[in-house]
Amino acid sequence: MKAIQVSKVGGSEVLEFIDIPAPEPKPNEALVQIKAAGVNFIDVYYREGRYPAPLPFIPGQEGAGVVTRIGSEVSHVQPGNRVAYTGVLGSYAEFAAVPADRLIHIPEKLDFNQAAAAMLQGMTAHYLSHSTFSIKRGQTVLIHAAAGGVGMLLVQIAKKLGARVIGTAGSDEKAKLARDAGADELIIYTKQDFEKETLRLTNDKGVDVVYDGVGKTTFEKDLKVLRPRGYLVLFGGASGAVPPFDLMLLTKHGSLFIARPSLHHHIGTRAELEERSTDVLQMIASGHLKLRIHKAYPLSQAQEAHRDLEGRKTSGKLLLIP
Ligand code: NDP
Repeated sequence: MKAIQVSKVGGSEVLEFIDIPAPEPKPNEALVQIKAAGVNFIDVYYREGRYPAPLPFIPGQEGAGVVTRIGSEVSHVQPGNRVAYTGVLGSYAEFAAVPADRLIHIPEKLDFNQAAAAMLQGMTAHYLSHSTFSIKRGQTVLIHAAAGGVGMLLVQIAKKLGARVIGTAGSDEKAKLARDAGADELIIYTKQDFEKETLRLTNDKGVDVVYDGVGKTTFEKDLKVLRPRGYLVLFGGASGAVPPFDLMLLTKHGSLFIARPSLHHHIGTRAELEERSTDVLQMIASGHLKLRIHKAYPLSQAQEAHRDLEGRKTSGKLLLIP
């Protein structure tokens, strides 16, 4: 099969397009013919070695496709079923062997591209807004990179939950997309000081919660734009990792709370995975949550997809099509 392989960590050039044998499913696994693989920022962390994985590995944490074979212990999916999953390494390939208890049936209304686009970023936006910090009507939220993959979904869900949404974006074009997704206010944080603007927009009160997947370049000011006892939800580091910091800063800036959550711990059980994915897929199928596919690249162009994502050139979902 064709696949992307990483045999040494580094820049986008380490993503090699190769031919290797398709994997053999173990008794608890199903072999999935991948029709669309999601590209996510976490794939960059694995490729760089920021998150360690034994070498060589096939990257990709998200896919949608058709079951072609099942292991002897598998019963809830059958060959021919359309399925999607996240959280299992190896989706940048024509086939992936996936533990069957991670597979979700794709609703009829959704195609493979939509299903692949929904799983990781959709369920992330869902747990951030429902579990890590449960958004209530009337609250004000600040969402960084509001035109990004997670960002644009989080903006829509926060609006549905009744929040006033302030978004940040790197350019005017991205700001427009985030506004179209429902954000009430946009700050172009590459030109404007988001601390000053957020305080202005909240009459110096600060926001109830900051959702930050940008990390290094935004973290310090996040602490300054929260209301007393506000929540900082740090869920990624697209600009780099946040260095260790003094916990007393939380006291100084108003008895703040901070969380550094991961999707992994929010879909750990089969029950939670089913509940969350059903919610997200139904919202998409009913048109209440809109996906924006930035671009579907051929699998062979994984390097270009990573360069675009890291180069801040994208708004919404990137897919690789084997
Ligand atoms: P995005 O589509 O949001 O892409 C990243 C965006 O971050 C860019 O488009 C850019 O938007 C912004 N950004 C700001 N500074 C930089 C920089 N120096 N380099 C690159 N990008 C920068 O990606 P995803 O939606 O895939 O992921 C967003 C974040 O969420 C990532 O940090 C990711 O790791 C995290 N994540 C965390 C999960 C969890 O469970 N903890 C699960 C899923 C994602 P702009 O130009 O507008 O600033």
